[in-house]
Amino acid sequence: MNEPATPVSTASDDWIARHDAALSPNYKRFDVVIERGAGSRLWGVDGKEYLDLFAGFGAPLLGHCHPELVEAAREQAEKLWHVGNLLHTLPQVEAAERLRDASGFEALPFFCHSGADANDAAFKLARLYGKANRGASTGAHGRYKVISTTRSFHGRSFGAMGATGNPAVRKGFEPLPPGYANVAYDDVSALEAAIDAETVAIIAEPMQGEGGMNVPDAGYFKALRALCDEHDLLLIADEVWTGCGRTGRWFAHHHWGAAPDLMSLGKGVGGGLALGVSCVSPRLADLIDPRVQGGVKHATTLGGNCVTMAVAAKLLEIVERDGLSQHADELGEHAKGVLRDGLASSAVREVRGLGLFLGVELDVPQEAAGAKAREVVLACMERGVMVNGTASGVIRVAPPINIERDEFDRGLSVLIEVISA
Ligand code: PLP
Repeated sequence: MNEPATPVSTASDDWIARHDAALSPNYKRFDVVIERGAGSRLWGVDGKEYLDLFAGFGAPLLGHCHPELVEAAREQAEKLWHVGNLLHTLPQVEAAERLRDASGFEALPFFCHSGADANDAAFKLARLYGKANRGASTGAHGRYKVISTTRSFHGRSFGAMGATGNPAVRKGFEPLPPGYANVAYDDVSALEAAIDAETVAIIAEPMQGEGGMNVPDAGYFKALRALCDEHDLLLIADEVWTGCGRTGRWFAHHHWGAAPDLMSLGKGVGGGLALGVSCVSPRLADLIDPRVQGGVKHATTLGGNCVTMAVAAKLLEIVERDGLSQHADELGEHAKGVLRDGLASSAVREVRGLGLFLGVELDVPQEAAGAKAREVVLACMERGVMVNGTASGVIRVAPPINIERDEFDRGLSVLIEVISA
Protein backbone atom coordinates (compact mmCIF):
# COMPACT_ATOMS: atom_id res chain seq x y z
CA MET A 1 0.00 0.00 0.00
CA ASN A 2 1.42 3.42 -0.94
CA GLU A 3 2.32 5.79 1.83
CA PRO A 4 1.10 9.36 1.43
CA ALA A 5 3.23 12.01 -0.20
CA THR A 6 4.22 14.93 1.99
CA PRO A 7 1.00 16.83 2.70
CA VAL A 8 0.60 19.91 0.50
CA SER A 9 -0.59 21.94 3.45
CA THR A 10 -1.12 21.29 7.11
CA ALA A 11 -3.77 23.97 7.25
CA SER A 12 -7.13 22.25 6.77
CA ASP A 13 -8.73 25.51 7.82
CA ASP A 14 -7.28 27.33 4.81
CA TRP A 15 -8.78 24.79 2.43
CA ILE A 16 -12.12 24.90 4.21
CA ALA A 17 -12.19 28.70 3.99
CA ARG A 18 -11.36 28.59 0.27
CA HIS A 19 -13.92 25.83 -0.21
CA ASP A 20 -16.64 27.82 1.52
CA ALA A 21 -15.85 30.88 -0.58
CA ALA A 22 -15.85 28.97 -3.86
CA LEU A 23 -18.42 26.15 -3.78
CA SER A 24 -22.17 25.94 -3.68
CA PRO A 25 -23.04 25.28 -0.02
CA ASN A 26 -24.91 22.18 -1.04
CA TYR A 27 -23.52 19.71 1.45
CA LYS A 28 -23.08 19.50 5.19
CA ARG A 29 -19.44 18.47 5.52
CA PHE A 30 -17.16 17.57 8.39
CA ASP A 31 -14.11 19.77 8.97
CA VAL A 32 -11.78 17.26 7.37
CA VAL A 33 -9.87 17.82 4.12
CA ILE A 34 -8.74 14.65 2.37
CA GLU A 35 -5.79 14.75 0.06
CA ARG A 36 -5.23 11.16 -0.96
CA GLY A 37 -6.25 7.56 -0.43
CA ALA A 38 -4.95 4.02 -0.93
CA GLY A 39 -7.03 0.91 -0.36
CA SER A 40 -9.12 1.38 2.77
CA ARG A 41 -7.03 4.28 4.00
CA LEU A 42 -7.29 8.01 3.57
CA TRP A 43 -4.96 10.84 4.50
CA GLY A 44 -5.92 14.40 5.30
CA VAL A 45 -3.91 17.45 4.23
CA ASP A 46 -2.77 17.62 7.83
CA GLY A 47 -1.25 14.13 7.46
CA LYS A 48 -3.84 12.41 9.67
CA GLU A 49 -4.60 8.83 8.60
CA TYR A 50 -8.10 7.35 8.53
CA LEU A 51 -9.43 3.85 8.04
CA ASP A 52 -12.35 4.30 5.68
CA LEU A 53 -15.24 2.03 6.66
CA PHE A 54 -17.75 3.98 4.61
CA ALA A 55 -15.78 4.52 1.45
CA GLY A 56 -17.36 7.30 -0.63
CA PHE A 57 -20.95 6.18 0.04
CA GLY A 58 -20.14 2.85 -1.57
CA ALA A 59 -18.61 4.15 -4.78
CA PRO A 60 -14.93 3.17 -4.37
CA LEU A 61 -16.03 -0.46 -4.14
CA LEU A 62 -12.43 -1.72 -4.30
CA GLY A 63 -11.02 1.06 -2.15
CA HIS A 64 -9.15 4.17 -3.09
CA CYS A 65 -6.83 4.23 -6.11
CA HIS A 66 -6.81 0.48 -6.66
CA PRO A 67 -3.60 -0.01 -8.70
CA GLU A 68 -5.29 -2.14 -11.39
CA LEU A 69 -8.11 0.38 -11.81
CA VAL A 70 -5.60 3.22 -11.98
CA GLU A 71 -3.74 1.29 -14.67
CA ALA A 72 -6.95 0.53 -16.61
CA ALA A 73 -7.90 4.24 -16.54
CA ARG A 74 -4.40 5.34 -17.55
CA GLU A 75 -4.15 2.84 -20.40
CA GLN A 76 -7.56 3.80 -21.78
CA ALA A 77 -6.97 7.54 -21.28
CA GLU A 78 -3.97 7.28 -23.59
CA LYS A 79 -6.05 5.49 -26.26
CA LEU A 80 -9.51 7.02 -26.48
CA TRP A 81 -11.81 8.98 -24.16
CA HIS A 82 -15.10 9.41 -25.93
CA VAL A 83 -16.65 9.29 -29.37
CA GLY A 84 -20.40 9.29 -28.65
CA ASN A 85 -22.91 6.53 -29.04
CA LEU A 86 -23.25 6.60 -32.81
CA LEU A 87 -20.15 4.41 -32.85
CA HIS A 88 -19.16 1.18 -31.11
CA THR A 89 -16.32 1.15 -28.60
CA LEU A 90 -14.44 -1.74 -27.02
CA PRO A 91 -14.67 -0.99 -23.28
CA GLN A 92 -18.49 -0.66 -23.44
CA VAL A 93 -18.73 -4.16 -24.88
CA GLU A 94 -16.37 -5.57 -22.26
CA ALA A 95 -18.22 -3.97 -19.34
CA ALA A 96 -21.63 -4.92 -20.77
CA GLU A 97 -20.69 -8.57 -21.27
CA ARG A 98 -19.49 -8.83 -17.70
CA LEU A 99 -22.68 -7.26 -16.34
CA ARG A 100 -24.89 -9.42 -18.53
CA ASP A 101 -23.12 -12.58 -17.40
CA ALA A 102 -23.15 -11.63 -13.71
CA SER A 103 -26.76 -10.42 -13.66
CA GLY A 104 -28.40 -13.84 -13.85
CA PHE A 105 -31.15 -12.48 -16.13
CA GLU A 106 -29.11 -11.77 -19.28
CA ALA A 107 -29.40 -8.05 -18.54
CA LEU A 108 -28.65 -5.60 -21.34
CA PRO A 109 -27.00 -2.52 -19.83
CA PHE A 110 -27.71 1.11 -20.74
CA PHE A 111 -24.87 3.28 -19.45
CA CYS A 112 -25.50 6.65 -17.84
CA HIS A 113 -23.95 8.60 -14.98
CA SER A 114 -25.57 8.04 -11.60
CA GLY A 115 -28.03 5.95 -9.65
CA ALA A 116 -30.75 8.53 -10.16
CA ASP A 117 -30.05 8.48 -13.89
CA ALA A 118 -30.37 4.70 -13.98
CA ASN A 119 -33.71 4.81 -12.15
CA ASP A 120 -35.01 7.53 -14.48
CA ALA A 121 -34.12 5.34 -17.45
CA ALA A 122 -36.02 2.44 -15.85
CA PHE A 123 -39.09 4.64 -15.21
CA LYS A 124 -39.10 5.87 -18.80
CA LEU A 125 -38.92 2.31 -20.06
CA ALA A 126 -41.74 1.32 -17.70
CA ARG A 127 -43.92 4.05 -19.23
CA LEU A 128 -43.20 2.71 -22.70
CA TYR A 129 -44.18 -0.73 -21.46
CA GLY A 130 -47.39 0.67 -19.99
CA LYS A 131 -48.36 2.25 -23.29
CA ALA A 132 -47.56 -0.88 -25.27
CA ASN A 133 -49.33 -3.15 -22.76
CA ARG A 134 -52.31 -1.10 -21.61
CA GLY A 135 -54.07 -3.93 -19.79
CA ALA A 136 -57.23 -2.67 -18.08
CA SER A 137 -56.20 0.98 -18.29
CA THR A 138 -58.75 3.27 -19.88
CA GLY A 139 -56.71 6.46 -19.39
CA ALA A 140 -55.12 8.45 -22.19
CA HIS A 141 -51.61 7.45 -21.09
CA GLY A 142 -52.07 3.73 -20.61
CA ARG A 143 -50.44 2.35 -17.48
CA TYR A 144 -47.80 4.63 -15.98
CA LYS A 145 -47.79 4.44 -12.17
CA VAL A 146 -44.82 3.13 -10.24
CA ILE A 147 -45.22 1.83 -6.71
CA SER A 148 -42.27 2.42 -4.39
CA THR A 149 -41.77 1.83 -0.71
CA THR A 150 -41.44 3.88 2.45
CA ARG A 151 -37.90 4.65 3.66
CA SER A 152 -36.62 3.99 0.14
CA PHE A 153 -34.07 6.17 -1.57
CA HIS A 154 -33.88 6.25 -5.35
CA GLY A 155 -32.07 9.52 -6.05
CA ARG A 156 -32.71 13.23 -6.34
CA SER A 157 -33.63 13.83 -9.99
CA PHE A 158 -37.31 14.67 -10.39
CA GLY A 159 -38.15 11.14 -11.51
CA ALA A 160 -36.12 9.34 -8.86
CA MET A 161 -37.19 11.77 -6.14
CA GLY A 162 -40.82 11.09 -7.02
CA ALA A 163 -40.28 7.45 -6.12
CA THR A 164 -38.16 8.12 -3.05
CA GLY A 165 -40.10 7.21 0.08
CA ASN A 166 -38.56 9.82 2.35
CA PRO A 167 -40.69 12.96 2.71
CA ALA A 168 -37.63 15.03 3.73
CA VAL A 169 -36.03 14.41 0.32
CA ARG A 170 -39.15 15.58 -1.54
CA LYS A 171 -40.01 18.53 0.71
CA GLY A 172 -39.90 21.90 -1.05
CA PHE A 173 -39.95 20.49 -4.57
CA GLU A 174 -43.68 20.03 -4.98
CA PRO A 175 -45.48 19.58 -7.28
CA LEU A 176 -43.75 16.29 -7.95
CA PRO A 177 -44.23 14.41 -11.22
CA PRO A 178 -47.43 12.37 -11.15
CA GLY A 179 -47.51 8.59 -11.17
CA TYR A 180 -45.95 7.42 -7.92
CA ALA A 181 -47.51 5.58 -5.00
CA ASN A 182 -45.60 4.85 -1.82
CA VAL A 183 -46.34 1.88 0.46
CA ALA A 184 -44.69 0.26 3.49
CA TYR A 185 -41.44 -1.62 2.82
CA ASP A 186 -41.43 -5.35 3.43
CA ASP A 187 -45.24 -5.46 3.39
CA VAL A 188 -46.60 -7.48 0.47
CA SER A 189 -50.27 -6.87 1.31
CA ALA A 190 -49.78 -3.09 1.34
CA LEU A 191 -48.20 -3.34 -2.06
CA GLU A 192 -50.91 -5.53 -3.49
CA ALA A 193 -53.59 -3.15 -2.20
CA ALA A 194 -51.92 -0.22 -4.00
CA ILE A 195 -52.03 -1.83 -7.45
CA ASP A 196 -54.66 -0.31 -9.72
CA ALA A 197 -55.48 -0.26 -13.43
CA GLU A 198 -52.83 2.42 -14.03
CA THR A 199 -49.96 0.62 -12.29
CA VAL A 200 -47.08 -0.51 -14.47
CA ALA A 201 -44.12 -1.17 -12.17
CA ILE A 202 -42.83 -1.77 -8.67
CA ILE A 203 -39.45 -0.46 -7.58
CA ALA A 204 -37.72 -1.74 -4.45
CA GLU A 205 -34.26 -2.04 -2.98
CA PRO A 206 -33.48 -5.73 -2.23
CA MET A 207 -32.03 -4.32 0.99
CA GLN A 208 -32.57 -0.69 1.96
CA GLY A 209 -29.49 1.43 2.58
CA GLU A 210 -30.28 5.11 3.04
CA GLY A 211 -33.52 4.19 4.82
CA GLY A 212 -31.64 2.50 7.69
CA MET A 213 -30.02 -0.73 6.45
CA ASN A 214 -33.27 -2.69 6.40
CA VAL A 215 -33.13 -6.33 5.36
CA PRO A 216 -36.56 -7.53 4.21
CA ASP A 217 -38.12 -10.86 4.98
CA ALA A 218 -36.53 -13.65 2.90
CA GLY A 219 -39.76 -14.11 0.92
CA TYR A 220 -40.42 -10.42 0.18
CA PHE A 221 -38.69 -10.04 -3.15
CA LYS A 222 -40.08 -13.33 -4.44
CA ALA A 223 -43.56 -12.17 -3.47
CA LEU A 224 -42.99 -8.94 -5.41
CA ARG A 225 -41.96 -11.00 -8.42
CA ALA A 226 -45.14 -13.06 -8.13
CA LEU A 227 -47.29 -9.92 -7.87
CA CYS A 228 -45.59 -8.48 -10.94
CA ASP A 229 -46.21 -11.68 -12.90
CA GLU A 230 -49.84 -11.81 -11.80
CA HIS A 231 -50.58 -8.16 -12.72
CA ASP A 232 -48.20 -7.79 -15.69
CA LEU A 233 -46.01 -5.25 -13.87
CA LEU A 234 -42.29 -4.65 -14.24
CA LEU A 235 -40.13 -5.31 -11.22
CA ILE A 236 -37.32 -2.75 -10.85
CA ALA A 237 -34.56 -3.75 -8.43
CA ASP A 238 -32.70 -0.67 -7.25
CA GLU A 239 -29.24 -2.15 -6.64
CA VAL A 240 -27.39 1.16 -6.68
CA TRP A 241 -26.03 0.47 -3.19
CA THR A 242 -26.27 -3.29 -3.12
CA GLY A 243 -24.82 -4.26 -6.52
CA CYS A 244 -21.51 -5.75 -7.64
CA GLY A 245 -20.72 -7.96 -4.65
CA ARG A 246 -21.42 -5.52 -1.82
CA THR A 247 -23.94 -7.75 -0.03
CA GLY A 248 -22.13 -11.04 -0.52
CA ARG A 249 -23.77 -11.92 -3.83
CA TRP A 250 -23.15 -10.44 -7.27
CA PHE A 251 -26.45 -8.63 -6.81
CA ALA A 252 -28.60 -8.53 -3.69
CA HIS A 253 -31.66 -9.94 -5.47
CA HIS A 254 -29.63 -13.17 -5.82
CA HIS A 255 -30.15 -13.64 -2.06
CA TRP A 256 -33.86 -13.80 -2.68
CA GLY A 257 -34.04 -16.04 -5.76
CA ALA A 258 -36.19 -13.70 -7.83
CA ALA A 259 -35.02 -11.88 -10.96
CA PRO A 260 -36.15 -8.35 -11.76
CA ASP A 261 -37.08 -6.98 -15.20
CA LEU A 262 -34.91 -3.93 -14.70
CA MET A 263 -31.97 -3.39 -12.38
CA SER A 264 -30.46 -0.01 -11.55
CA LEU A 265 -26.78 0.25 -10.69
CA GLY A 266 -24.60 3.16 -9.64
CA LYS A 267 -22.03 3.86 -6.95
CA GLY A 268 -19.73 0.78 -6.82
CA VAL A 269 -20.06 -0.25 -10.46
CA GLY A 270 -17.90 2.73 -11.48
CA GLY A 271 -15.38 2.17 -8.68
CA GLY A 272 -15.53 5.89 -7.87
CA LEU A 273 -16.07 7.28 -11.37
CA ALA A 274 -19.49 8.60 -12.42
CA LEU A 275 -21.39 5.60 -13.73
CA GLY A 276 -25.01 4.55 -13.57
CA VAL A 277 -26.41 1.51 -15.38
CA SER A 278 -29.96 0.60 -16.20
CA CYS A 279 -29.95 -3.14 -16.85
CA VAL A 280 -32.81 -4.23 -19.05
CA SER A 281 -34.30 -7.69 -19.44
CA PRO A 282 -33.98 -8.88 -23.08
CA ARG A 283 -37.77 -9.29 -23.28
CA LEU A 284 -38.09 -5.47 -23.02
CA ALA A 285 -35.37 -4.62 -25.51
CA ASP A 286 -37.73 -3.86 -28.41
CA LEU A 287 -39.29 -0.99 -26.47
CA ILE A 288 -36.07 1.02 -26.64
CA ASP A 289 -34.62 -0.27 -29.88
CA PRO A 290 -34.64 2.56 -32.47
CA ARG A 291 -34.74 -0.02 -35.26
CA VAL A 292 -38.09 -1.19 -33.90
CA GLN A 293 -39.40 2.13 -32.59
CA GLY A 294 -38.31 4.29 -35.47
CA GLY A 295 -36.35 6.64 -33.22
CA VAL A 296 -34.11 6.84 -30.18
CA LYS A 297 -36.12 6.61 -26.95
CA HIS A 298 -33.45 7.46 -24.39
CA ALA A 299 -29.87 8.68 -24.58
CA THR A 300 -27.12 10.63 -22.85
CA THR A 301 -24.06 12.15 -24.50
CA LEU A 302 -21.29 10.91 -22.25
CA GLY A 303 -22.92 7.61 -21.27
CA GLY A 304 -20.47 4.75 -21.69
CA ASN A 305 -17.40 6.97 -22.12
CA CYS A 306 -14.34 4.83 -22.66
CA VAL A 307 -12.37 5.65 -19.49
CA THR A 308 -15.27 4.94 -17.14
CA MET A 309 -16.09 1.77 -19.05
CA ALA A 310 -12.51 0.51 -18.94
CA VAL A 311 -12.49 0.99 -15.17
CA ALA A 312 -15.89 -0.69 -14.76
CA ALA A 313 -14.85 -3.68 -16.90
CA LYS A 314 -11.66 -4.11 -14.87
CA LEU A 315 -13.55 -3.74 -11.59
CA LEU A 316 -16.05 -6.43 -12.59
CA GLU A 317 -13.17 -8.67 -13.65
CA ILE A 318 -11.50 -8.23 -10.25
CA VAL A 319 -14.71 -8.88 -8.29
CA GLU A 320 -15.07 -12.17 -10.18
CA ARG A 321 -11.40 -13.15 -10.24
CA ASP A 322 -10.78 -12.46 -6.54
CA GLY A 323 -14.07 -13.94 -5.31
CA LEU A 324 -14.96 -10.66 -3.64
CA SER A 325 -18.69 -11.39 -3.24
CA GLN A 326 -17.77 -14.40 -1.17
CA HIS A 327 -15.16 -12.38 0.71
CA ALA A 328 -17.85 -9.78 1.49
CA ASP A 329 -20.23 -12.53 2.56
CA GLU A 330 -17.75 -14.16 4.94
CA LEU A 331 -16.33 -10.94 6.33
CA GLY A 332 -19.83 -9.56 6.81
CA GLU A 333 -20.90 -12.59 8.85
CA HIS A 334 -17.70 -12.33 10.88
CA ALA A 335 -18.29 -8.59 11.46
CA LYS A 336 -21.88 -9.11 12.61
CA GLY A 337 -20.59 -11.61 15.17
CA VAL A 338 -17.85 -9.24 16.37
CA LEU A 339 -20.28 -6.33 16.66
CA ARG A 340 -23.00 -8.35 18.39
CA ASP A 341 -20.55 -9.78 20.92
CA GLY A 342 -18.75 -6.49 21.46
CA LEU A 343 -21.92 -4.45 21.81
CA ALA A 344 -23.96 -6.97 23.81
CA SER A 345 -24.07 -4.76 26.89
CA SER A 346 -24.28 -1.43 25.02
CA ALA A 347 -27.22 0.74 24.06
CA VAL A 348 -27.80 -0.93 20.73
CA ARG A 349 -31.10 -2.21 19.36
CA GLU A 350 -29.83 -4.34 16.50
CA VAL A 351 -26.86 -5.21 14.34
CA ARG A 352 -28.06 -6.11 10.83
CA GLY A 353 -27.14 -6.22 7.18
CA LEU A 354 -25.88 -8.41 4.37
CA GLY A 355 -22.25 -8.84 3.35
CA LEU A 356 -20.29 -5.65 3.85
CA PHE A 357 -23.40 -3.51 4.09
CA LEU A 358 -23.99 -3.33 7.82
CA GLY A 359 -25.96 -1.21 10.24
CA VAL A 360 -25.85 -0.79 14.01
CA GLU A 361 -29.09 0.70 15.28
CA LEU A 362 -28.48 2.73 18.43
CA ASP A 363 -31.01 2.43 21.22
CA VAL A 364 -31.95 6.10 21.56
CA PRO A 365 -35.26 7.96 21.36
CA GLN A 366 -36.12 8.99 17.81
CA GLU A 367 -35.81 12.72 18.51
CA ALA A 368 -32.21 12.27 19.69
CA ALA A 369 -31.21 9.59 17.17
CA GLY A 370 -29.60 11.79 14.49
CA ALA A 371 -27.54 13.77 17.02
CA LYS A 372 -26.37 10.61 18.78
CA ALA A 373 -25.35 9.00 15.48
CA ARG A 374 -23.38 12.12 14.57
CA GLU A 375 -21.66 12.03 17.95
CA VAL A 376 -20.55 8.42 17.31
CA VAL A 377 -19.35 9.27 13.80
CA LEU A 378 -17.31 12.23 15.08
CA ALA A 379 -15.77 10.23 17.93
CA CYS A 380 -14.76 7.48 15.49
CA MET A 381 -13.32 10.06 13.11
CA GLU A 382 -11.35 11.60 15.94
CA ARG A 383 -9.84 8.15 16.44
CA GLY A 384 -9.11 7.75 12.74
CA VAL A 385 -12.05 5.61 11.62
CA MET A 386 -14.71 6.73 9.14
CA VAL A 387 -18.26 5.41 9.53
CA ASN A 388 -21.60 6.98 8.68
CA GLY A 389 -24.69 7.80 10.72
CA THR A 390 -28.30 8.19 9.58
CA ALA A 391 -30.92 10.55 10.95
CA SER A 392 -32.72 7.50 12.34
CA GLY A 393 -29.72 6.60 14.53
CA VAL A 394 -28.19 3.80 12.49
CA ILE A 395 -24.40 3.67 12.25
CA ARG A 396 -23.51 2.40 8.80
CA VAL A 397 -20.45 0.35 7.99
CA ALA A 398 -19.69 -0.27 4.30
CA PRO A 399 -15.95 -0.56 3.68
CA PRO A 400 -14.35 -1.40 0.34
CA ILE A 401 -15.34 -5.02 -0.31
CA ASN A 402 -11.72 -6.12 -0.64
CA ILE A 403 -10.79 -4.88 2.84
CA GLU A 404 -8.64 -7.31 4.79
CA ARG A 405 -9.90 -8.86 7.99
CA ASP A 406 -7.19 -7.43 10.29
CA GLU A 407 -7.75 -3.92 9.07
CA PHE A 408 -11.52 -4.29 9.36
CA ASP A 409 -11.27 -5.74 12.86
CA ARG A 410 -9.17 -2.77 13.94
CA GLY A 411 -11.92 -0.40 12.75
CA LEU A 412 -14.70 -2.46 14.32
CA SER A 413 -12.99 -2.42 17.71
CA VAL A 414 -12.81 1.40 17.57
CA LEU A 415 -16.52 1.53 16.72
CA ILE A 416 -17.35 -0.83 19.59
CA GLU A 417 -15.29 1.22 22.06
CA VAL A 418 -16.90 4.48 20.94
CA ILE A 419 -20.48 3.14 21.15
CA SER A 420 -19.78 1.45 24.49
CA ALA A 421 -18.15 4.54 26.06
N1 PLP B 1 -30.71 4.32 -5.39
C1 PLP B 1 -30.21 3.98 -4.19
C2 PLP B 1 -30.66 2.70 -3.54
C3 PLP B 1 -29.30 4.82 -3.54
O1 PLP B 1 -28.83 4.48 -2.34
C4 PLP B 1 -28.90 6.01 -4.20
C5 PLP B 1 -27.96 6.92 -3.56
O2 PLP B 1 -27.64 6.81 -2.39
C6 PLP B 1 -29.44 6.31 -5.45
C7 PLP B 1 -30.34 5.44 -6.01
C8 PLP B 1 -29.06 7.55 -6.16
O3 PLP B 1 -27.78 7.43 -6.66
P1 PLP B 1 -26.96 8.73 -7.12
O4 PLP B 1 -26.64 9.49 -5.89
O5 PLP B 1 -25.77 8.17 -7.82
O6 PLP B 1 -27.86 9.48 -8.03
